[in-house]
Amino acid sequence: MNELKRAGLQRFLEKSKECLLIFDRECRIVFCSAHFERISGKNSDSLQGKNIFDAFPSLRDTGEANFFHQTLAGQESVSRNPHFHAKGADKNIFLEAHYFPTYSGQPTHRPQVSGGIVIVRDVTQERLATEIQRETEARFQKMADHSPVMLWMAGTNSLCNFFNQTWLEFTGRTLAEEWGVGWADGVHPEDFQRCMDTYVENFNARRAFEMEYRLRRKDGQFRWLLDRGVPRYTPDGIFTGYIGSCVDITERKQIVSNLEEAVKVREEFLSIASHELKTPLTSLSLQLGMVNHLLKGDMELGALLDRMKSITEISRRQLGKLSELIEDLLDVSRVSAGRLAFAPEEMDLVPLLEEVVERLRSQAKTSDTPLKLRVSVPSIRGIWDRSRLEQVLTNLLTNALKYAPGKPIAVEAELHGTQAVLEVKDQGQGIPDDQKEKIFEKFHRVSAAKSQSGLGLGLYIVRQIVEGHEGKISVESEPGNGAKFRIELPGAFRPIYS
Ligand code: ADP
Repeated sequence: MNELKRAGLQRFLEKSKECLLIFDRECRIVFCSAHFERISGKNSDSLQGKNIFDAFPSLRDTGEANFFHQTLAGQESVSRNPHFHAKGADKNIFLEAHYFPTYSGQPTHRPQVSGGIVIVRDVTQERLATEIQRETEARFQKMADHSPVMLWMAGTNSLCNFFNQTWLEFTGRTLAEEWGVGWADGVHPEDFQRCMDTYVENFNARRAFEMEYRLRRKDGQFRWLLDRGVPRYTPDGIFTGYIGSCVDITERKQIVSNLEEAVKVREEFLSIASHELKTPLTSLSLQLGMVNHLLKGDMELGALLDRMKSITEISRRQLGKLSELIEDLLDVSRVSAGRLAFAPEEMDLVPLLEEVVERLRSQAKTSDTPLKLRVSVPSIRGIWDRSRLEQVLTNLLTNALKYAPGKPIAVEAELHGTQAVLEVKDQGQGIPDDQKEKIFEKFHRVSAAKSQSGLGLGLYIVRQIVEGHEGKISVESEPGNGAKFRIELPGAFRPIYS
């Protein structure tokens, strides 16, 4: 039986990956297993009876001697020496040595330490694997922290356990604050439920997902994020959680909504434009029908001529409206193509103002609108495009007549140094604060004014013309108290008398 036991132990020591060393009180080697030979590169017979530190002097320098002395003092210990140059294997290997004291004497008496055993394990593979993993993790952390994208990771319990530096810089919070479900504190209340439902539903189904939500940035502003999450698995298919990335899509969303708005505005414009163009055409076609009818009838010549005169007058007005509309449309396309041409000439603004006001006086009369012109100087001369400035004044005045009928309109002109200042004031509904800039945009109309005909192009063209003269246009208005459009034109000459 003893023989069998010895043979079994012998076989175990031959096959075991761990090696065994037995030493006595004087640190002399009593026994070392075959595997020890492989690690040390020394024959076990030659080691028998040798002092361990004579056989391996380097053990003294590496501090291993302490473990032998502790063992002889009756203590168990583990030495995890950083590395060991294995002569046999001709390479650096990592070892882990477990020290146990051995005892002699009767178990009933106080046992005496007779020496010790060392079980040495080669942990090179484990150490390398750990180091590779540590290095991979450090590399991932570095890449993640320098990524322009915000990254997060969650464990198998769905709680987030990683946020990269980009994320933390965005939210201005610490990892501890974002940990678990802390990050959800920053989700916009209106998006919160949808966001949580999407996350939980997809997480439970282990499905990749995409969701958009608003997250509070460190400056307090909510930004739209596109968050994509995918499940993570080990190479052998074990689920380890989720990894996700977020990009700020606020600008992109804004562009899309601006484009949608632009398409809406354009569609609205097309329907208004077709209506506006059709109205004078319908009227013209009615007048022509009337001419046809009158010519076939037997009306007395004098009466017929009177009717013809009135038909011609109506048709002329409708044609005028039509050509104004077409001219506006052409101007807009000229502006877009950068071809709004100017023909500057030396001119006087005062007679131009008088002419425009006179031309519109009959229109003002039909709506009982008092129209006043006040010019503080006899002449305001400069080098400007006469017909373009006429277009500007006509536009501002027809707007005043359109949006403030029946209430006094005042046109004023002054000279401030070399700057001509023109003002058109009415006492109509005025313009709401949030519309004061927008009315100068293409196609823009204030909804309260939509009962009046118009394409929403007049003020846009006016601004292009004024700016083309390096001037400025602005509007002052208190809703309900009228509007005052002010134009400042540089380049006026000083009148000779001043
Ligand atoms: P349109 O008159 O064809 O609509 P405009 O570009 O001339 O286009 O004017 C843009 C918008 O500005 C108008 O639709 C109207 O809502 C507003 N507006 C212009 N002038 C006045 C004014 N004098 N009083 C009130 N609102 C005005």
